[in-house]
Order: sequence, then C-alpha cells, then structure tokens
Amino acid sequence: MKEKIWLSSPHMGGAELKYINQAFEENWISPLGPNVNGFENDLELFLGENVHVAALMSGTSAIHIALILLNVKPGDEVLCQSLTFSASANPIVYMGALPVFIDSEDETWNISPVALEEAIVDGIKRGKKPKAIIAVCIYGMPYKVDEIRAIADKYQIPLIDDSAEALGSMYKGIKCGTFGDLSILSFNGNKIITSSGGGALVVKNRKYKDKAVFLSTQAKDAAPHYQHSELGYNYRLSNICAGIGRGQMEVLNDRVIQRRQNHEFYASFLSELPGVTLFSEPNEDYFCNYWLSVILIDPSKAKRDRDSVREGMLKENIEVRPLWKPLHLQPVFKTSRFYGTGVSEKLFTQGLCLPSGSNLTENEKIHIKNVLLNLL
Ligand SMILES: *Cc1c(COP(=O)(O)O)cnc(C)c1O
Repeated sequence: MKEKIWLSSPHMGGAELKYINQAFEENWISPLGPNVNGFENDLELFLGENVHVAALMSGTSAIHIALILLNVKPGDEVLCQSLTFSASANPIVYMGALPVFIDSEDETWNISPVALEEAIVDGIKRGKKPKAIIAVCIYGMPYKVDEIRAIADKYQIPLIDDSAEALGSMYKGIKCGTFGDLSILSFNGNKIITSSGGGALVVKNRKYKDKAVFLSTQAKDAAPHYQHSELGYNYRLSNICAGIGRGQMEVLNDRVIQRRQNHEFYASFLSELPGVTLFSEPNEDYFCNYWLSVILIDPSKAKRDRDSVREGMLKENIEVRPLWKPLHLQPVFKTSRFYGTGVSEKLFTQGLCLPSGSNLTENEKIHIKNVLLNLL
C-alpha cells in the first residue's frame, strides 16, 4: 500500500522555529508576547485596507467575539450561509440566538443574494429583523461581494465575512477577510497556513479590536485586583502559536501559488471527462486561493457517481471528502429555518474535495491522476 495522500496537511516553511526559539529565549511562553503583535502586524500588512487584526485562539472564537461585538442577544436571528463548516454557525447558538440558513448560488457556491433578501424580508415581516449576516468564502472562493454588501447596506444589517478558508483570495483585487463589518480568519491545521490552531478577527474600526482583545483576555477592568464588569473569555492566541503563524506568513504567497497550481493540474486532465466539472473562478473579478480543489460529478453524464469515485480513491489510500454538508440538513440544526431552492443540497450530493495540499509531490500527483482517469 502506498503512503496516504492527504486532503490538506500542514506545510511548514522553516522560519517557524526561529520565532518559537526566540520566544523560549526571552521566556515569552505564555500567554502574550512579541509574536502575537508581530503576527497581527504581518496580517495587517498582508490584508491592506487599513484593517486592525486581533489574533485569537481559533476562527470559531473570532466568530463568537464578532457576534458579541454586534450585540446579538438570546432569541435574535442571525443569517448564515448553509454550505459551510459547522463552526460558521455554532457561535450563533452559543449566544442563545437562532441561526437561519441561506442557500447557495451556483457560480461561487456561496450565499445566494436572492435567498438572502427573501429571508430578510420575511424576517422583518415576522418582527424578527436579522441581527447579522454571515457570508462565507467557501473553499477560498469569494462570495458575490458587491451584491451581498448592497443587500446588507439596504437593510442596515452588519455583515460578518467568514474568510477562514480564503486567506490570499481576492475580489476585484481586494483581499478576502476585509469585506465584512467584521471578518474572521482561521489558522487551523488544514487551512492554507496554520499556527497549529488559531484565528483572527479583522476589523476596520480600532475600537472593535480593543474591545475584542479586552473580552478575549477575561475582560479585566483597570484595577489593582481582579475586577470584572463584563463577561470575559480566554480566547487570545498564545505567543508560541503566533510564532508559528509568523513563520507561515513568510511563505503564504508561495502557498497560494502552490494551491493554484494544484487547481491547474486538475484542470489539465479533468476538463475532458464527461460529467465532471472543476469548481473555478466565474470571471476576472475573482481570485481564489483554491484552498481545496473540488469537482462536481453529474451521475447522469459521468462514468461513475460521486460515491463510487470516492470509494475508489480511498481504496488507493488517497484522502477525498464530500463537500461540507449544508447546515440546514445537519441534525443539530434541524429546527432552524432555511431559505433556498436546493442548490447547496445538489452541490453536496455531487461534490468531491480532492487532495489539495501545497506539499503534494509530483509522484503523488501522477498517482492521483492515474486513479482519477481510471475511475472516470
Ligand atoms: C475552519 C473554519 C472555521 C473555524 O475555524 P477554526 O479555527 O477551526 O475554529 C470557520 N468557518 C469555516 C468556513 C472554516 O472552514
């Protein structure tokens, strides 16, 4: 049996240890220290747009803090793209609020402007104007930024940009992770870069950053003793993890290039196969980091259906996965409202995520290609 080929595994650049060693030498082991500030600066420079970054423990904690900053209360409704990882919506429930799920459109696979507006109008009619919109850049693909922003502005609802998968992607030349009133990033182990677990809140308003740092370091008031007038959280990124993040920032641009090359590699032989479509940028406005390369397999046209391709790949020790299961179909969210026409469900039944690591070797690629061509 060949060694396992992973979907997306950590890929260190080499400089990470330099920052960790520095932290050890200076005894900045916990919790805060120069790497945290350095990582935030690196991200601010990379993202541009005059943003402020608060480095947190995870993308999930960043969404949680974003909802707190937007003053979401128990019983409030928050709109969330359905085709996403559960972490996009879980913090809504942590707040005692109710997620309302929105279908995808079939160009970017992200939140549908039509279904979004329908949900807002219906919410207002029910006396439940949504408190926030969570739009996701799924698999690194930007959502329809202009259209979604216009709807958010029209109804005056704050937008949270979940760019956990989209660091390095752009829409009209502007970086993902800057399109929300509040945006979030993730540096989990399977993302385009990793800090071995970490995330960030990205904001344009400096006050939001200061409040996020305050809340995520246990909300300590200015006093000689421990004094708290607000509920705090222990969500700040550690100085060691931030050191890994700084090392990874040195290779981020390479990682984007490598993932985009994976996508080109798949395009070079998949486009001729009947019933197979590679998920790709709809037009020049979009620049995708192609965090994952994903295909749709139309069972009425392809040689095999998605599940038999999936099983055939796994048998060859090649890790592949179906797409994120839409959250409105998840048992944990079964009582939630949903607005849409079945686009995300169709994507889920036909989609397959292919190995996409920036560390795939040429030999691994040859093996993947042979197996895929053989199956399809
Ligand atoms: C990974 C991910 C998150 C959560 O990030 P963590 O750092 O793992 O908490 C949120 N949303 C999306 C779309 C993700 O892919």
